[in-house]
Amino acid sequence: MSLTLGIDLGTTNSLVGVVDSGFPILLADEEGRRITPSAVNYGSDGAVTVGHAALRARALDPARTVTSVKRLLGRRAGEGDWRPPYDLRALGTSPVDVSAEILKRLRAIAERALEQTVTRAVITVPAYFNDAQRSATKKAGELAGLTVERIVSEPTAAALAYGLDKLGEQGKIAVYDLGGGTFDVSILEMRDGVFQVLATAGDTQLGGDDVDRMVAALLWRRAGFTDAPDYEALPSAIQVRLIEAAEIAKKKLSTEDEALIELPFLWEKQSLHVTLTRAELEKLALPWVERTRIHCLRALSDARLTNADLAEVILVGGSTRMPIVRQSVREIFQREPNISQNPDEAVAMGAVIQAGILSGSLRNVLLLDVTPLSLGIETFGGLMNIIIPRNTTIPCKAGEMFTNAVANQADMLIRVLQGERELAKDNWELGRIDVPFPPGPKGSARVGVQFAIDANGILEVLARDTATNRDVVLEIQNTAVDVADERVEQMISESVEHAFEDMNERIWTEARLKAEELLPAVDQALAVLGSEIPAEDRASIDACAATVKSLLTAAAHDVKALKAANQQLDEATQNLAVLLVEKAMEESLARKGVL
Ligand code: AMP
Repeated sequence: MSLTLGIDLGTTNSLVGVVDSGFPILLADEEGRRITPSAVNYGSDGAVTVGHAALRARALDPARTVTSVKRLLGRRAGEGDWRPPYDLRALGTSPVDVSAEILKRLRAIAERALEQTVTRAVITVPAYFNDAQRSATKKAGELAGLTVERIVSEPTAAALAYGLDKLGEQGKIAVYDLGGGTFDVSILEMRDGVFQVLATAGDTQLGGDDVDRMVAALLWRRAGFTDAPDYEALPSAIQVRLIEAAEIAKKKLSTEDEALIELPFLWEKQSLHVTLTRAELEKLALPWVERTRIHCLRALSDARLTNADLAEVILVGGSTRMPIVRQSVREIFQREPNISQNPDEAVAMGAVIQAGILSGSLRNVLLLDVTPLSLGIETFGGLMNIIIPRNTTIPCKAGEMFTNAVANQADMLIRVLQGERELAKDNWELGRIDVPFPPGPKGSARVGVQFAIDANGILEVLARDTATNRDVVLEIQNTAVDVADERVEQMISESVEHAFEDMNERIWTEARLKAEELLPAVDQALAVLGSEIPAEDRASIDACAATVKSLLTAAAHDVKALKAANQQLDEATQNLAVLLVEKAMEESLARKGVL
């Protein structure tokens, strides 16, 4: 049977697993470790090492060791405010290539443990990752020889691992994720069998690494070496040794009250011996963990929820093993967090479960898809009117009201379109339906159009004439969600390439429609009242109307001029419009016998 791996590609650590005999399991390397540091060392001899070996090399070779590359993934050079302590270009590599090295290593760990080749994977990314960051992750997977079956949000994966898909409908949960380098909090809701991310907040520069650095600096101050510089001025190899010792002590203090740190010959034959207590660590860490509070409150308020609305608060990320973090979470959310899962393995477990569902080795109906391209209908003038934007989580539902653009129209043709282009003709047509309605003046019909995509990716388009309450329904199988990646990429790149002309064309069409509405209205008003307005008014209206007409028929589309001419015609006919209204009122009063 062909297997699909579940992979948590983390900032600090990565994990890989698979569903085996119906159970999700994480796979260990040759030394029995399930956690692989997300570190890659580019040796001066050309050798590339990944994981624990790369971290060992870091102490000797910090400039050639790449860590936390996820912070750079899918960003342009210089974008974001994190400056790495290495130069990727000098090492002849890129964030995607480094991520691919980590994924290759995870794949090798899996293939060794499973004794078979694997070529498919589900990979998790932070909920806030944008398209570029998601495609960069996918690209890294492909470079590692993996077909990426799905990119899943980390909080969604964690919720799956905690079994919260069994919470039932409308269950809302908070996922508090404090890892090595980043903090994320997400509020999710279970709706129609899938998780929706209601809100996310966080800090990309807040994590357990901060504590390690604070502890390292404290250890250095406590060491009491003579003639020693400040911590900041130390050579990086010594800083690295201190940070590594600090992290070990920090972890120990999650379960013990005291930790002894010993680093032989750290500074000019002097060795470090320091004892750190949990109370001392917590004093350092308290302001750090308190920085997460504001993000939790913001996420709740963005989701328009209060603590009382949450069914569960789950903990993710290795740093949530610290007792002081758990205490803060308790206070922030006013409840006991759920700690039933391993916080550093929950995201990976969720990825494995999702992979199992996709490959059919775990039975479940959960689908965590999004619409790959926007869905909408063609409106008057051949424009695309989006109803469900791209990247909307399914299932979803959205609708809009439309009216007749010309008088005495007896039906409306609804063309269901998919794509990112401004003009209907450049998008793909998925189907069409015709909605009949009683003929009437322009703008009198009311046709509601609703798009609904269910968890199986089936799009149902319902059009209802609200006068007769008659429905016309069109069902479109899967094509709304199942689109080949290359076609999605092509559509998006074309929309970017043609963005300028498309936008101009849309603005022109809108101006043209406006002109085509104005001209007959002006003609009609002149026919009734033309003789009652001053000659100069009449002349100016005729001149403005002539300008609009000539711009409409000109070979070159001058959008700016047409918009200005429309406006001038509108202004020139102000008096005429007032007269028209007065006349209509007089007539109506006369009919009623008042005048
Ligand atoms: P993650 O990004 O989820 O892999 O989390 C890694 C972070 O969790 C690192 O900063 C670790 O030092 C921290 N961490 C892992 N285990 C523990 C522990 N037992 N106590 C405190 N922090 C831990």
